[in-house]
Amino acid sequence: MSKKSKPEITLNFNQGWQYAPAPESSDHIRLEKKYGHFINGEFVAPASGKYFTSYNPSNEKPLADVGKGDARDMDKAVKAAKTAYDKVWKKMPAAERGKYLYRIARMIQERARELAVIESMDGGKPIRESRDIDVPLAAAHFFYYAGWADKLEYAFPGRTPEPLGVAGQIIPWNFPLLMAAWKIAPALACGNTVVLKPAESTPLTAMKLAEIIRDSGLPPGVVNIVNGFGDAGAALVNHKDVAKIAFTGSTDVGKIIQKAVAGTGKKLTLELGGKAANIVFEDAPLDQAVEGIINGIFFNQGHVCCAGSRLFVQEGVADKLIRKLKDRIETLRVGDPLDKNTDVGAINSKEQLEKISYYIGLGKEEGAEMWQPSGNIPQTGYFCRPTLFLNASQSHRIVQEEIFGPVLTIQTFRTVEEVIEKANNIPYGLSAGVWTDKGSRIFNLTGKLRAGVVWANTYNKFDPVSPFGGYKESGFGREGGVQGLAAYLKI
Ligand code: NAP
Ligand code: MG
Repeated sequence: MSKKSKPEITLNFNQGWQYAPAPESSDHIRLEKKYGHFINGEFVAPASGKYFTSYNPSNEKPLADVGKGDARDMDKAVKAAKTAYDKVWKKMPAAERGKYLYRIARMIQERARELAVIESMDGGKPIRESRDIDVPLAAAHFFYYAGWADKLEYAFPGRTPEPLGVAGQIIPWNFPLLMAAWKIAPALACGNTVVLKPAESTPLTAMKLAEIIRDSGLPPGVVNIVNGFGDAGAALVNHKDVAKIAFTGSTDVGKIIQKAVAGTGKKLTLELGGKAANIVFEDAPLDQAVEGIINGIFFNQGHVCCAGSRLFVQEGVADKLIRKLKDRIETLRVGDPLDKNTDVGAINSKEQLEKISYYIGLGKEEGAEMWQPSGNIPQTGYFCRPTLFLNASQSHRIVQEEIFGPVLTIQTFRTVEEVIEKANNIPYGLSAGVWTDKGSRIFNLTGKLRAGVVWANTYNKFDPVSPFGGYKESGFGREGGVQGLAAYLKI
């Protein structure tokens, strides 16, 4: 670093240490003014001729227009996917399919910086997260499933696994590129072709992925990406030539999709909402637990289905842990997603900020005690202060409902039985965290918590090898690992 650019560090008594801005450069980013859809290997205009704008939520500025897809575009995409399936992809030797996946994985790595910057601009998440988590994990999923492509019979010994056909995939806005990779990689490895619909507020990394897919030489029609709103998603779900629907998003939309698919013979996996319990016992390493709690709910603005949004602390350490937690939250920097020092970025959209603000108001009305740090947050863009609700009770709606923002409810407990009962007493069951020094207690809880994933003395750790998915209203089916293959095969 040159002397000139040495960061200035000054102490501001209201806000603690302030760092000079350290923004990641966006000079190298090339975005088209307009993207249509990616169908049959090329970018095409939407049938309606209509476009909508994707904004940068941290400054409310437009980034690019994307095509507003409808049933006509979906039909064209599904036809392209079906032709590619029948004529090319299903006949191709599995090892050859694997090579395309490896190539896409490497191209994601080569363009990692560009993808991370666009992800942060379009969705609002801190560059640290898109750079260190989203993009590397997206590449890792392609690498992992590339390896399975020619080994499917070893994954299901004694069976003859066969692809399903065209997979329709619908994804949310919180991990746009990563969710696309989670869905596309296993589908292709298993020999299916794909039509993907990105979320309306974060379509841009999917368009960059489309460029990568085109440049990888993947046969046209094997992957198609159609932009649009919920009605475009519904047209995909209802298309007669789609053999499988994989949906990640809200429980409300998941229920609509489940009804639409019932009786059609389409295979379905649903990855839905969550309201995870993060449980801290008296013998836990408290400083580590504080980091895990922060990582679980405040990084990525709480826009994580498996966010540790309900904290349960054993009574003996509650005061101490809450004091440490408040001290740590005071140091969090809320602001420009492209700044490498930023801990908490922008809320993804105005609507989502309104929803979070509604729940913060509701929590106060319900009688929980609200606490927020003293620092400033930017005045333009959609930002929200990290928020704690102390003395929350099990019946509060802020405890029962998914807020999907940087809002943490805190409850205390005395016994293991009590905390298991409370942790399980909600409609969701996606994930949970347990913090304790005692191994036997971890095993006891992992068996009793009704959650698809339980982290022990850590939180929000992901790897393509481990399956992910929920219980109850958090959905069904697993993504990741060997289990993730089963969702895309007739076995
Ligand atoms: P959402 O409103 O359910 O949207 C998800 C996707 O479905 C978007 O692409 C959306 O399009 C589309 N869609 C909307 N209505 C549809 C319909 N009737 N038929 C078909 N598709 C439709 O969810 P979101 O607000 O984007 O995402 C947040 C939710 O996702 C949270 O509940 C979170 O917990 C969940 N999530 C779960 C997981 C998991 O693995 N379990 C992972 C990440 C997120 P538009 O964008 O145009 O609305
Ligand atoms: Mg956007």
